[in-house]
Amino acid sequence: MKLKVGIYWGAACGGCDVAILDTHEKLLDIADKMEIYLWPIAMDFKYDDIRKMEDGYLDVAIYSGAIRSSENEEIAKLLRKKSKVMIALGACAHIGGIPGLANFYTKEEVLKRVYLESESTENKEGVIPRETWNVNEGELELPTFYNTVKTLDQVVDVEYYIPGCPPVPLQIYSALSLIWDDMLPPVGSVIGAGERTLCDDCPRERDEKTITEIKRIQQVLPDPKKCFLEQGLICLGPVTRSGCGSRCIKSGVPCRGCYGQLDEVPDLGIKMLSALASVLEPKEEKEIDALLDTIVDPLRTFHRFSMPASILRRKKV
Ligand code: SF4
Ligand code: SF4
Repeated sequence: MKLKVGIYWGAACGGCDVAILDTHEKLLDIADKMEIYLWPIAMDFKYDDIRKMEDGYLDVAIYSGAIRSSENEEIAKLLRKKSKVMIALGACAHIGGIPGLANFYTKEEVLKRVYLESESTENKEGVIPRETWNVNEGELELPTFYNTVKTLDQVVDVEYYIPGCPPVPLQIYSALSLIWDDMLPPVGSVIGAGERTLCDDCPRERDEKTITEIKRIQQVLPDPKKCFLEQGLICLGPVTRSGCGSRCIKSGVPCRGCYGQLDEVPDLGIKMLSALASVLEPKEEKEIDALLDTIVDPLRTFHRFSMPASILRRKKV
């Protein structure tokens, strides 16, 4: 018997769907073990076909993307009802991801920037999307655009998480194998990723050096063998879950935290601030503050992928 699966994307770029396709020849295995009932990026299914199913008919729903609109939320709730197991795939569904950076703005500010102010937009009439529009045939409706981006588990119960922006394709495959081999870990687990921090897997050398200066990657030519953090470049490796194969580090870029934090850490950004404070050279409060003040945009640096899942959640309005 094949597993009955629905795959869906909410507020996402599509990279998670591409990562599924990037399993290459393993895709044949996936096709052999899974019957796909919904996958908007790849196949033409209708929401109504899902609505007509009995509750719990699907074995697994795989949801990538954050919740940013009423449509994202409606389909998340529909798939939850129709599926036995719900999986949040990728950083956006898991911790909010890049769409979650919109939580630093209001909905009105986002629409104004995108439709009226952006350098690449030509919109002489100043048209901004509306939720309803009258045409000869009647009234058309668009989904509501929310003020706050949410993670999937802030809207529906989620059994498992596959982290990453995007998740490593082979990690997706090994997580799917856990399902068809009936070897799933306890509910709430992050699957297919590591149980330690990225620093534990990092190939770069560390000398236990303290930092006297904080720099940005475009200002220096970092030593390709040494730890970024010890060179004064912010790297979220000390607080980020391993499992990606240190892919940014190996490409010469510090970690930005897309795999999220380990289970016991309540907030990735706050934990990183504390990890950073412990490696600073100055020991006096005033000097520590002065050095931390040189970090450009600390909130978006520490919460690049995790703002909706953080204790802050969003900018106060
Ligand atoms: S801070 Fe970054 S570069 Fe340094 S060891 Fe950790 S992951 Fe590697
Ligand atoms: S190095 Fe960090 S930001 Fe890059 S893929 Fe891995 S977890 Fe994500």
